[in-house]
Amino acid sequence: MSTGELVIEGLRAGIPGREILRGVTLTVRSGEVHAVMGPNGSGKSTLAHVLMGRPGYEVLDGSVTLDGIDLLSLPTWQRARAGLFLAMQHPVEVPGVTLIESLTAARPGVPAEEIGATDAGIGERLHEEARRIGFDERFLDRPLNVDLSGGERKRNETLQMGVLRPRFAVLDEIDSGLDVDALGAVGRRVEEATAEWGLGVLAITHFRRLLDVLHPDVVHVLSEGRVVATGGSQLAEIVDRTGYAAYV
Ligand code: ADP
Ligand code: MG
Repeated sequence: MSTGELVIEGLRAGIPGREILRGVTLTVRSGEVHAVMGPNGSGKSTLAHVLMGRPGYEVLDGSVTLDGIDLLSLPTWQRARAGLFLAMQHPVEVPGVTLIESLTAARPGVPAEEIGATDAGIGERLHEEARRIGFDERFLDRPLNVDLSGGERKRNETLQMGVLRPRFAVLDEIDSGLDVDALGAVGRRVEEATAEWGLGVLAITHFRRLLDVLHPDVVHVLSEGRVVATGGSQLAEIVDRTGYAAYV
């Protein structure tokens, strides 16, 4: 069971000439679920991208550490090796690379010279995870996300998280595009991971429905690049009822 913390402090970041995140501070501990809600354009995906080190974004100030390791100074693949995982809001198609190839390369602790070698153990875990969330096993040998529907891609992201077992997962609208049954299965899988190996979760979402399954310990509302409210799960219910108007 992993223990540790992902600490975001005073994070200011954006694209050249425009500050989008204007001082974000929050700490996720192992086993905790933090929800981040907020209106369109408030900077939620930017936060996810800056945490993972997507090119094109600049960090202006602040720090992000995972168990004291300074993530912002590392390239994306080393952030992943340190235990950070991102499920993207819009997962991209990667023609020519199968899921098993990408997971074999991504699994933690693999020496660089072994990247590309196929790990038989991963195949078994893939099938087990696929069954847990109802992901069609015929997709496992296909190129990553190619010709998958929006909901299938979201399940695919969840599957990768289950196989890789990261220490912290940032889930950017993992619920968008999922039907109600898939939403339940994905939410339960993530919730179980918090107990199975102490996964810490930063779940970006607009909808309470995900949070009914994935019980958040803490809910944050992001508006114009700042955390403007933090509370328990009742905050998600208030937002669900009244919208964001009170917070912007
Ligand atoms: P959210 O995920 O909360 O809807 P985003 O983080 O995607 O919001 O975007 C916040 C704001 O920053 C939006 O106005 C968006 O258009 C802008 N933005 C984000 N990333 C980029 C980018 N790479 N280039 C230009 N504008 C961007
Ligand atoms: Mg977004």
